[in-house]
Amino acid sequence: MTCQEMIDFLADYLEGELPESQSHTLDQHLALCPECEAYLQSYRSTIDLSTLVCRDREGHPEAMPEDLVQAILEARRLAG
Ligand SMILES: [Zn+2]
Repeated sequence: MTCQEMIDFLADYLEGELPESQSHTLDQHLALCPECEAYLQSYRSTIDLSTLVCRDREGHPEAMPEDLVQAILEARRLAG
């Protein structure tokens, strides 16, 4: 496998959509090729960042309202 092929297949690889034999070939290339290993790392962190942005836009619990936090703390205090 060449570096170009590895990059072409990377998205499918990360989504688990490659056939096992092909994903094994890709694993072997990654183990031997520091450049593709670095590419994989930056690709992954890009995906992580875009996931975070989406979560923020959808009002994920990261943006939990202060009122709700206080209500939970109060409930815990009463229960304790
Ligand atoms: Zn490579």
